[in-house]
Amino acid sequence: MSIFRTTGKREQAVKTLLEGRCEWCDEQFAASRLVLHRILPEPGHRTPESPDPQKRFLLLCHQCHRDVHRIPLPRILQKDLVRKRSPEIRKTLRILFDYTPKPYEPPDTADFAEIYEECFSLRSLDLFRAGG
Ligand SMILES: [Zn+2]
Ligand SMILES: [Zn+2]
Repeated sequence: MSIFRTTGKREQAVKTLLEGRCEWCDEQFAASRLVLHRILPEPGHRTPESPDPQKRFLLLCHQCHRDVHRIPLPRILQKDLVRKRSPEIRKTLRILFDYTPKPYEPPDTADFAEIYEECFSLRSLDLFRAGG
């Protein structure tokens, strides 16, 4: 939870960077109507959490944030939303959270857990919510 303890300035910077856009419904909102949602590790998940802080949260409007918890939206689908970020956004978010990928770290494509997750996350997020 450490990266969210001092939310104020970073949270504001994330909202500005993402242009006040909810990452699920893609609508724009005033900063006060957006929240940083923490993507929690799957219970009993054996692979360690990614060290990359930008993979561990979503910027959501109040409605979508409520739905994420109410459904609850599976972690693999939450990570789909993270993957929609452009490379520039990812890079800026990493800088914002003081994260420097280690040079010897394998690229995302070598992360077997994520490849596995991607195979099962092709269904539509909207459909999933409608059927919730
Ligand atoms: Zn939303
Ligand atoms: Zn949340």
